[in-house]
Amino acid sequence: MKKSAVKLKKSKFYQVYYLFLFWIRSRLSKKFKKPLLAGIKLTNRCNLKCLHCPFWKNEKKQSLSWDEVKRTLKKLYEDGVKIAIFEGGEPLLWKDNKANKNINDVINLSKTYFFSTAITTNGTLDLSAIDSDIIFISLDGLKETQNKIRGNVFDLIMKNIKNNGTKKIIINITISKINFKDVTALIKFLQDKVYGITVQFFYPYEGIEDLRLSVKEKEEIINKIIELKNRKFNILDSETALKKMINNDWKCEDYLVASVDPDGTINYGCYLKNRVKNISCKNCGFLAHCEISLSFQLNLNALISAKTIFWGKISSSPNPAKTF
Ligand code: SF4
Ligand code: SF4
Repeated sequence: MKKSAVKLKKSKFYQVYYLFLFWIRSRLSKKFKKPLLAGIKLTNRCNLKCLHCPFWKNEKKQSLSWDEVKRTLKKLYEDGVKIAIFEGGEPLLWKDNKANKNINDVINLSKTYFFSTAITTNGTLDLSAIDSDIIFISLDGLKETQNKIRGNVFDLIMKNIKNNGTKKIIINITISKINFKDVTALIKFLQDKVYGITVQFFYPYEGIEDLRLSVKEKEEIINKIIELKNRKFNILDSETALKKMINNDWKCEDYLVASVDPDGTINYGCYLKNRVKNISCKNCGFLAHCEISLSFQLNLNALISAKTIFWGKISSSPNPAKTF
């Protein structure tokens, strides 16, 4: 891709103009309803063995090859995707020895195609060379809870965060029966340490349904999170989307998302498509899907939230990261 085209894509003016046109077109015709955000699982390999996770148990331990990465990113670009989030397994472990490529080659290529490139990592590996626009780190709780779920990794993650204070790090908490009592303390603990915090709710996958919160528990924790947000704790989710998660009474525009598996399959729409037998929207915990749907319904809170997550500068966080 030409350097001038890449530069144009990075211009905020062009990005706003593009999204405005996209919004109008998608309202006029179904054929323009296309994905804007893609989650790309580069590999099933992981260095951890979290209690609730199916990936490290996957015997195939599949990974995309460099050729597949190149093909997939080009296809997603042609589909209209503007935000790429690399996931796993653990995406930092991704490499193609034959092609002599590692995760930074993937990130650099992605930056030539998309408005924003992010990775979602477990935070236990060296982040210093990672040059994505955003680093999402999955964290479940304070030391005791985190180590119970993921192994003895809490101190290592905190050290990595501390050593990378100049990067845009967002902590993502998946709230379930195991950790919901930790959430407010964790949010308070993370102030001044990271750019921001997002949450989502555990989806009751087959066999681990017990980890789902009741509606009453969800309401309780959501109200506490909103209270902290109103007190300027750096929670990046919008109040509207958080409230919608209680009863899941929002209109999902799932055509806005796509996801890629390590075997190269691209799924368009809900993350759960082809992953569970029966999708239960009543139990949906995907706050990001809710946020992107609300943004396209022109909800101001959700639009501000999207702007802060993807376009905000480190200094614009309510509590910018400082040293510990
Ligand atoms: S870090 Fe993520 S991919 Fe790895 S075992 Fe844990 S949940 Fe699974
Ligand atoms: S489960 Fe959630 S993301 Fe999937 S279609 Fe239902 S509401 Fe949308």
